[in-house]
Amino acid sequence: MFANRFDRVRTAMARDGVDVLLLSVGPDLPWLTGYHAMPLERLTILVLPVDGVATMLLPAFETARVSPQPDLFRIEGWGETDDPIARAAALVGSARNLAIGDHTWSRFTVLLQQAMPAATWRNAGSVTGPLRAAKEPAEIEALQRAASGVDRVAAALRGGEIPLIGRTEADVSAELGRRVVAEGHAKVNFAIVASGPNAASPHHEPGDRVIGPNEIVLCDFGGTTEEPEGRPGYCSDITRCVFTGEVPAEIAEAYDHLLDAQQRATAAATVGTAAGAVDAVARGRLAEVELDRYFLHRLGHGIGVEAHEDPYLVDGNEVPLAAGNAFSIEPGVYVEGSWGARIEDIVVATADGPLALNTVDRELAVVDR
Ligand code: ZN
Ligand code: ZN
Ligand code: ZN
Repeated sequence: MFANRFDRVRTAMARDGVDVLLLSVGPDLPWLTGYHAMPLERLTILVLPVDGVATMLLPAFETARVSPQPDLFRIEGWGETDDPIARAAALVGSARNLAIGDHTWSRFTVLLQQAMPAATWRNAGSVTGPLRAAKEPAEIEALQRAASGVDRVAAALRGGEIPLIGRTEADVSAELGRRVVAEGHAKVNFAIVASGPNAASPHHEPGDRVIGPNEIVLCDFGGTTEEPEGRPGYCSDITRCVFTGEVPAEIAEAYDHLLDAQQRATAAATVGTAAGAVDAVARGRLAEVELDRYFLHRLGHGIGVEAHEDPYLVDGNEVPLAAGNAFSIEPGVYVEGSWGARIEDIVVATADGPLALNTVDRELAVVDR
C-alpha cells in the first residue's frame, strides 16, 4: 500500500517538476508512510527526492517509534545538540524545486527556507491533494466503518435515547463525543451542538445554553477511526437535526426544501461533474424558494485521513469529480437570531453513481425529552 503511494507521489512530482518533497507534521506523512510525526518542537521530516533514496529524519530517541520500511526510506536520527535544519538541507543537497507539506509549522518552514535560499518552494498539497482524494478500496471501507459508527450515534439522537431538554449544549456535546468513541473511533474531532437561535451559527461552539422545549437542535459530529498499528485513521462527519416538540410549519417547510436540495445535490455528484456544479444544484434548489440567501457556506469538502481535504465542493471549482472521491454534501439554512438547520452525509463518487456512506434517516426527528 505505502509502496504504491510512493510510486504515485513520485510520478506526480516528476510531472509537476518537483525535485524533493518535504513532509513533517500533518496528514500527508501518515498517509504516505503510516508514521505520525510527534507534533512538537523537535523536527521530524521525510525528505523524498523524485528519484533516489528517501530519508526520514527525526529525533534519535524517537527512531524506535518508526516501523522500518527499508524499501521505501532510510531512518536517520539527529542528536539533541545537532542542527536538524542543516541536516535536512544536506539531505536536499543541490535540488532546487521543493514542495513542503501544507501543515508544516513556520518554525520549521522559515528556517528551512533560510537554509536553502536558492530553492523555490510550493505546497506539497498540490502534489498529494489529488492523490489523497482518489481513495483506494480499503480507504472507502474505512470511511464506511467511520460513517456507520456515527450513523449509530445519530440514530440514538433521533430516537430520543440522548436526553436534550434541560441539558446544556456542552453536556450533550460531551455525550455525543463519548458515543463517537464507543462506536469505533480513536478520537472525537468535533461535536457541535447548536440549539434554537444558536443553530444559525454553522460552526457554533457548544456552551452553557440550556436546551429548551420546542426548538431545533443541530448536531454535527465526527471522529477519526482506530486502525491497525501503522495505518492512519479515517474521519467521519455527519449532521442531523432534531426538534424538541412540535415543528412549526415554517421550519418544517424550509427543512423539507433543504432535504430535497441535499438529496438532489447527492444525486448530481457523479463522476465527471465539476465539484462546483454540485454546489450549484443545492444552491439553485434553495433559490427556487428564496432560501439560498440563508445558505452561508460551500456545499462540502473532501474527507479522508483529514476531516477537510480535497475536493472542495464550492462555486468556481471546475475540477471534475473522480471515481473514489469522498466528500460531504452539507447544505444548510441559517436564519440569524432565530434558527438554522443542516443535513450532512459523506458521499463517494463511484463508477455506478454517488454512494452515500451515511444512511440514517434525514427527516427532522421530533424528540420528547
Ligand atoms: Zn463545518
Ligand atoms: Zn460536519
Ligand atoms: Zn463536514
